[in-house]
Amino acid sequence: MRRYLFQKDFQDMPMVQYDVVIVGGGLAGLYTALQLNEGLSCAVLVKDRLNTCNTSLAQGGVAAVVEPEDETRLHLEDTLKAAAGIADKELARLMVEQGPKEIDRLVSLGVPFDKNPEGKWHTTKEGAHTRKRVLHCGGDATGRLIMDRLKTAVAEKPNVEILENRFLVDVLTGENGRACGVVAFENDYCILSAKAMVICTGGIGRVYRHTTNRHSITGDGIAAAARAGATLKHMEFVQFHPTAFMDTESGKTRFLISEAVRGEGGILRNPSGNPFMEGRHELKDLAPRDVVAREIFLEMKKAGTNHVFLDITTRSKNFLSKRFPTIYRNCLEQGVHMEQDLIPVAPVQHYFMGGIETNRYGQTSVENLYAAGEAACTGVHGANRLASNSLLECLVFGSQCARHINTEKSSKEVLPGISPSHKTISPVDTESIEKKIRNLMQDYAGIVRNEKGLQRALSGLHGILKDLEVRDLRHGQPMEVYNMAFVGKEIINAALKRKQSTGAHYRDDS
Ligand SMILES: Cc1cc2nc3c(=O)[nH]c(=O)nc-3n(C[C@H](O)[C@H](O)[C@H](O)COP(=O)(O)OP(=O)(O)OC[C@H]3O[C@@H](n4cnc5c(N)ncnc54)[C@H](O)[C@@H]3O)c2cc1C
Repeated sequence: MRRYLFQKDFQDMPMVQYDVVIVGGGLAGLYTALQLNEGLSCAVLVKDRLNTCNTSLAQGGVAAVVEPEDETRLHLEDTLKAAAGIADKELARLMVEQGPKEIDRLVSLGVPFDKNPEGKWHTTKEGAHTRKRVLHCGGDATGRLIMDRLKTAVAEKPNVEILENRFLVDVLTGENGRACGVVAFENDYCILSAKAMVICTGGIGRVYRHTTNRHSITGDGIAAAARAGATLKHMEFVQFHPTAFMDTESGKTRFLISEAVRGEGGILRNPSGNPFMEGRHELKDLAPRDVVAREIFLEMKKAGTNHVFLDITTRSKNFLSKRFPTIYRNCLEQGVHMEQDLIPVAPVQHYFMGGIETNRYGQTSVENLYAAGEAACTGVHGANRLASNSLLECLVFGSQCARHINTEKSSKEVLPGISPSHKTISPVDTESIEKKIRNLMQDYAGIVRNEKGLQRALSGLHGILKDLEVRDLRHGQPMEVYNMAFVGKEIINAALKRKQSTGAHYRDDS
């Protein structure tokens, strides 16, 4: 593996100093920045614009214990059960215990969670939750409205600077192995040196052909941290959301249909119109995501179709257009009236349980390097994330990181003295390589996996990486492609090692 992707001498790069550099401006990044002491100067780097993160796409909501009939014990139990027995119990406990406090903090920042006519929180039950506990805003516009308020709050913090269109290339480590800055790329490379770096670059969605994730989500932060020596964990656990709208003619998935639609009574029907979740799991259509996604996959395979159907015709137009305004509008644009038509749906890559291993303070195995949000692996989701626990994880562990950085008296590491060697071979045709990576991952490292397919994908990715190792990767896109191939290889290596099916990792040869 290349230690560094950048190709220039350190002394030729401009350098700016901060106390803290946060890479990623979704919920994890902005929430961490907001809670840093004002005496700490902080830069938040984002790959393109602040709005183009996965957070702003979140529909369903944030899970937290706010209802009188709910208990943290029950939220913990549901989280651990969905996680297929391998979650980090202590950190999951910390997350559910801190949940209500973080919701209060969001409310104090002006986040407009929806209320019922009596003025109490309107909560929904999503897949594998045994109680109603998912808070939402603007019906199904939770992420966008949270981001709006956080952006305003961050703009009022004098110590925080947002740097858009800055691509994280590498995390720098000094002679003692401690992280001491990052190399970013806009039109050219520059160094941002700092005492603490926090990787909040989200998941890996674009490594797959079908995903709900933004274009910018290519696993860059995970790959850069690994190159700097950080340990990765649970890389085999990729979550597929059971229901994305499927354009049946083009075979392309269009947008997410939140689990909350099944929470409000939607049921899945196979292409012959029969409901099929009855008898497959005690929670039927609201079984954990891995179970539902797999059952849909099998139904599609049996029928030879690229979709099944979601039926919410028991609900009125008035209810659906108010409760799910975005989904309702998106379906209408595709010619589907939710109150009278069956919605064609298929599973798509959606979330990544694995990532950079962190402890309860977000610390990675590299000193001075932290991670939070979907890029991190705290272990709270185990092999399968419980719906709406990811925004909660961003809040709780973003706070944990900030608290630790605020109190840490870390000594600054000296920048490394040696620049990497320069590669001179011509640049790459990024589009065709990206396509190859996505096809290999979708076809062989998707919902159902086996040894033969995984080996085939691994050998394809090895070939791609071998070629990229010697290439000139200057500019964002070639570096992204390198990161995608690297992260794909890590997912496959972990999947090959785990011989038994566990949660979202399902092997039909186990
Ligand atoms: C359609 C959809 C619906 C969802 N609904 C829900 C829901 O209802 N409830 C729930 O709990 N979860 C939901 N999720 C999951 C949840 O939104 C994400 O897990 C969460 O928002 C991740 O937040 P984050 O801050 O870790 O990353 P993101 O919000 O994805 O932000 C990543 C940031 O990193 C930046 N970045 C990436 N690479 C680089 C680079 N090389 N250099 C610089 N910056 C970089 C990006 O620009 C971006 O600012 C949903 C996800 C999707 C896609």
